[in-house]
Amino acid sequence: MEDCIFCKIIRREVPSNIVYEDEEIIAFKDIQPAAPIHILVIPKKHIPSLVQLEKEDEILIGKIYTIINKIAEEQGVLDKGYRVIVNCGQDGGQEVGHLHFHLLAGKRLGEKIV
Ligand code: 5GP
Ligand code: ZN
Repeated sequence: MEDCIFCKIIRREVPSNIVYEDEEIIAFKDIQPAAPIHILVIPKKHIPSLVQLEKEDEILIGKIYTIINKIAEEQGVLDKGYRVIVNCGQDGGQEVGHLHFHLLAGKRLGEKIV
């Protein structure tokens, strides 16, 4: 069993505000929102980061993007748009070692790097 904060959220050992869940994916509100809508979408499989992605995960990652779009629709931001960020490793600024996709929306997002 992984001693990881997001695995604990999946197992309901740590409370969170879950907005989506299926067999493979869970999404919950970020505890420190950087935008009016800030949701973390994660695979239930403990993949530490994109670096550890395996061939068998390709379909799962594609599905995550479909779910992100579904959540964006439910949150009512499809017309205005949203941003997805995946921080990877030290230089990427990743703090939690369980692959997660930040879904940010609800305001004009600034600080574009690319
Ligand atoms: P990273 O910097 O690794 O890309 O993003 C980690 C994110 O996880 C941060 O935005 C942080 O606010 C969020 N986070 C860290 N611990 C918890 C927690 O216990 N619950 C929730 N809901 N979010 C968390
Ligand atoms: Zn984990």
